[in-house]
Amino acid sequence: MEKTLIVIKPDGVQRNLIGEIISRYERTGLKLVALKMMQADENLVEKHYTIDPDWKKNVGTKAIESYEKKGLQPPSNDPVEVGEDVLKRLKIYICAAPVVAMVWQGNEAVKLGRKICGSTESLSAEMGTIRGDYSLESYQLADGSERAIVNLVHASGSVEEADQEIALWFTENEILNYKLIRDTLLYDKNWTI
Ligand code: ADP
Ligand code: MG
Repeated sequence: MEKTLIVIKPDGVQRNLIGEIISRYERTGLKLVALKMMQADENLVEKHYTIDPDWKKNVGTKAIESYEKKGLQPPSNDPVEVGEDVLKRLKIYICAAPVVAMVWQGNEAVKLGRKICGSTESLSAEMGTIRGDYSLESYQLADGSERAIVNLVHASGSVEEADQEIALWFTENEILNYKLIRDTLLYDKNWTI
């Protein structure tokens, strides 16, 4: 069964949204199989965001496109340069205060994890998503303050990324394998009440 890494970033903890965020994942039927509150360090953040060798380029391209779509001039036209800056700012942001790291498991956990979290820029994230409902962050606001986009939560982007991220944040024995009575209802072909 698929697993995904969800991290409540420092602003989620500071804004008393731990319970709200957990409940949004819990109510879908995904199963919580690991959870810890911790202080991340820069080394962890660096490793986390460089698992995908193309992340810097992709993050930069996404930012430049967003500026262009709004008819604005991006801070730089070089995606890798933008990506480098984002990583520096992410180290400051993610390490600023404790985070809550979790592993959620279930059918299409990665896709569902992203759907619940919403897109990167809170301002364009759909209402009904965590980022859309609880944040007003934009690329411009973040760049104006020379900080990372503050958007409450991290959710793995692909199954491959999730597996590697989980291995980075958790040891094997921190991830629990247990049965919920609910699982029968969700996944068993023949169930009765
Ligand atoms: P997501 O978290 O939606 O998967 P990315 O993987 O592209 O987004 O980026 C990781 C995190 O880096 C984002 O959640 C956000 O906190 C921050 N970030 C992304 N792009 C920018 C940007 N252009 N400027 C500042 N921070 C950014
Ligand atoms: Mg990502």
